[in-house]
Amino acid sequence: MKTSEWKADVLLTGNWRTATSVLLSNGKLRIVVDTGMPHEAHLLLEALEQRGLGAPDIHYVINTHFHIDHVLNNTIFTNSLICASQESYDWCCSLYFDLTDEQHWEQLLLKYYPEMSGYDHVLEHMHQMRKFTLRWWDLNRLGTLSQYRWIEQHALPEGLQPFFTWGHVPGHVSVIIPDGPKPTIIAGDAFVSRANEDRVLTMIPHNREQARRDREKVLVWGGRIFPGHDVEFTNPPHSH
Ligand SMILES: [Zn+2]
Repeated sequence: MKTSEWKADVLLTGNWRTATSVLLSNGKLRIVVDTGMPHEAHLLLEALEQRGLGAPDIHYVINTHFHIDHVLNNTIFTNSLICASQESYDWCCSLYFDLTDEQHWEQLLLKYYPEMSGYDHVLEHMHQMRKFTLRWWDLNRLGTLSQYRWIEQHALPEGLQPFFTWGHVPGHVSVIIPDGPKPTIIAGDAFVSRANEDRVLTMIPHNREQARRDREKVLVWGGRIFPGHDVEFTNPPHSH
């Protein structure tokens, strides 16, 4: 397999509270995958500046999914096209809208997380997530709809492939860069964290079994892997 011209470089290092943001560049195009939270905007801009770049130099934003911690600085990139799945956009916007319903939100959550009862302390967790949503969720920070190029209808820029990893959120997309014998994978929350998956403050998977399969696939296929909430790592050659 021909080695890709795409280079991947971490702008924001993911951890248990905040998501990974990655810069992809191939000499012609520059792409930011996932954009983080409003209070990280200055860090994202600083990281670009350190590379001699500003927001207008970014041609595309790719959102793996629309959980709060991955999308709320889209608004910085007013010149960029935004590639994301419409399924994930619609699902997450609807989820966050329903979470604002004072009276029925717990009931409504079951539409999105039908497996909730299988988790310990899940209501506590959801109360926390709801507070977080009321504090931060803001449709105006997602960019304008005219910027969007839905992945269901449009190919990613040449040399990049979407990998639908829908266990975390329906329509979740990881990004694959074919790169030598094993691809580079910008996993998003298909692979949350290498060792501390349970510590990361994110929603439970929409579908636990599929999320397990997605994670396994990323780990088996990937050479260089960028988790959604952890530092990048490289699989040793000739092993899983
Ligand atoms: Zn997520």
